[in-house]
Amino acid sequence: MITAGLVNTHHHLFQWMTRGRCVGCNLFDWLTELYPVWGRLEVEDVHAAALVGLAELARSGCTTAADHHYLVPRGDDTVFDALAEAATTIGIRLHLARGSMDLGESSGGLPPDHVVEDLDAILASTESVIERHHDGERIVVTVAPCSPFSVTPELMRESAALARRHGLKLHTHLAETLDEERDALERFGKRPVDLLDDLGWIEGDLWVAHGIHFDDAEVDRLGAAGFGVAHCPSSNARLAAGMCRVVDLEAAGVSVGLGVDGAASNEVGALQSELRQALYTARQRALRADALMPPDALRLATEGGARCLGRDDLGRLEPGLRADVVVWPGDDLRDIADPVAGLVLGPDRLARHVFVGGGAVVRDGELLGADLAALRGNLAGRARRLWP
Ligand SMILES: [Zn+2]
Repeated sequence: MITAGLVNTHHHLFQWMTRGRCVGCNLFDWLTELYPVWGRLEVEDVHAAALVGLAELARSGCTTAADHHYLVPRGDDTVFDALAEAATTIGIRLHLARGSMDLGESSGGLPPDHVVEDLDAILASTESVIERHHDGERIVVTVAPCSPFSVTPELMRESAALARRHGLKLHTHLAETLDEERDALERFGKRPVDLLDDLGWIEGDLWVAHGIHFDDAEVDRLGAAGFGVAHCPSSNARLAAGMCRVVDLEAAGVSVGLGVDGAASNEVGALQSELRQALYTARQRALRADALMPPDALRLATEGGARCLGRDDLGRLEPGLRADVVVWPGDDLRDIADPVAGLVLGPDRLARHVFVGGGAVVRDGELLGADLAALRGNLAGRARRLWP
């Protein structure tokens, strides 16, 4: 079977360095435990994690990945050069979201002060990352303050202005947990969507990660705005964050794509298995066995994701679009009349061949751009350094 390349709309590649930790934590506890470890990361650690993370994505049929990177080791923004280099080595498209945090613990934020940056430094670096890496095709830069509980309103406003000056997309985490909702109500007296609206963010150039806790009026409002949501069902399940209203959001006009999220909250690190998880989650939420069908799950992972990222040149197998194509192994699909049902509901599988812009990235299941065993060895050595 042949499909369009899968589009991963939300990831944190650096988190591959901290897999297997905090396995019984909710989001805030998980972050509180991991921030100090992430604070010890070096640029080379992020590079090693990105190479393995992008390799695993490519092998699972992903041809475009959005990486939301908000951890800048001691202000060294060459970390974005490392991410771009890793994408070039592996050969898939990267939507490089220049993430940021400027609200440390001493100012009422969740992250410790030593992992946040200064507002002016963030804005100057974002301009520079756009200049250094944005080509609009293989590497697309996005402006992406991290989340309402780690960023100041000033940074949100300035980031939106900066993105719009350059005609770039905006990205952030929103409405992931009820803790976030409580935090926004306590600090600002507003729900997260109202907060974002006040900051001038609710427009068609925004896609957010998770988007779980919206009420009916918010769903309609976001649909009318041409909003996008990166649905990350496995990460949401692991952190007990809740279940995204995918069916309602799509019906209201919101673009919904799928996201793996970081490998510290979804240790599979592959996109293909998210199709099945998205289908299961939508059905459990609606208590309806036909709430989301296999072709819907495939559509979210391809067209839906491309729409979130603003890529009308990706996500479908059509003349005139870029040749991002996945050939799936057919050995165990030959007995199934509907191969899409087999792909979505069947076992986790790796792609046989993956092409990006017509060029092979994976052939006969083998990654062509790098030696995966060597990448894994390097990553393991670096990750073990961080063990307590
Ligand atoms: Zn995330």
